[in-house]
Amino acid sequence: MAKKIWLDDRLVDPQDAKVSVFDHGLLYGDGVFEGIRVYNGKIFEFDAHLKRLFESAKVIRLEIGKTFDQIKDATQKTADANQIENGYIRLVVTRGEGTLGINPFLCKKPLLFIIADGIQLYPEEMYEKGMRVISSSVIRNHIHSIPPQVKSLNYLNNILAKIEAIDYNVPEAIMYNHSGYVAEASGDNVFILKNGILYTPSIEAGALNGITRNVVMKLAKKEGIEVIEKNLTKFDLYVADEFFLTGTAAEVIGIVEIDGRTIGDGKPGKITKLLRSKFFEYTL
Ligand code: PMP
Repeated sequence: MAKKIWLDDRLVDPQDAKVSVFDHGLLYGDGVFEGIRVYNGKIFEFDAHLKRLFESAKVIRLEIGKTFDQIKDATQKTADANQIENGYIRLVVTRGEGTLGINPFLCKKPLLFIIADGIQLYPEEMYEKGMRVISSSVIRNHIHSIPPQVKSLNYLNNILAKIEAIDYNVPEAIMYNHSGYVAEASGDNVFILKNGILYTPSIEAGALNGITRNVVMKLAKKEGIEVIEKNLTKFDLYVADEFFLTGTAAEVIGIVEIDGRTIGDGKPGKITKLLRSKFFEYTL
């Protein structure tokens, strides 16, 4: 449980971290956020996360009203106040308090809040044995709708896919775009290995430009593995030699079954395990 929450411009006790019912983040999902890991007391890929936050805000025409360095400082202070050695930080900027209409420019001042806490997304056993997923029938937001590159507070598209996964008794769902190509998972990026080559959908297919994705691509190249960003179909996933997801919370997790098709020998693959261990080395 978090000890202190950053609210606007200071640290407060959790019971004092209150947001107005007129906040457009709450009324309309109008805002942006980041989820960031802390490894060994160090905020992971801090600048990349902040850059993405500012880019998300720019696209939705949200003036954060604070500089990169001010947010960096507030985030660090929140991590320190909660004595987070290994954990998770949620950084949120809402449009702020406004009227009951949707006009964002009637909101007087954006609201920043930061929560630092522990995290365990999936049980340890799932990383060893691998995860089962389904293909979602929910199409990922079109890039000309709410661009999936924007990490906005409006996650209903992903939530609908997640509900479908839960209905099928699996933790994650793969989302496809309007053309039928793989976009991403409801909360993670997608990778497959086929004949020794690593493939991942390009961002234009409708994915968040994942920070973990970028780190894993870099690490794979360093290991001499060719990495190709291209359109992937359901067929490609079904016949993959290896399959894994990447994300801040999930880190690197092997997929062993999709829509009843077993991937490889039904265990997380060799390259998946290698990249997972290289990822942890990188966090040190
Ligand atoms: N796609 C979606 C929809 C996400 O919400 C996330 C983050 N949980 C990711 C991909 C992975 O991005 P990152 O590695 O930056 O956490």
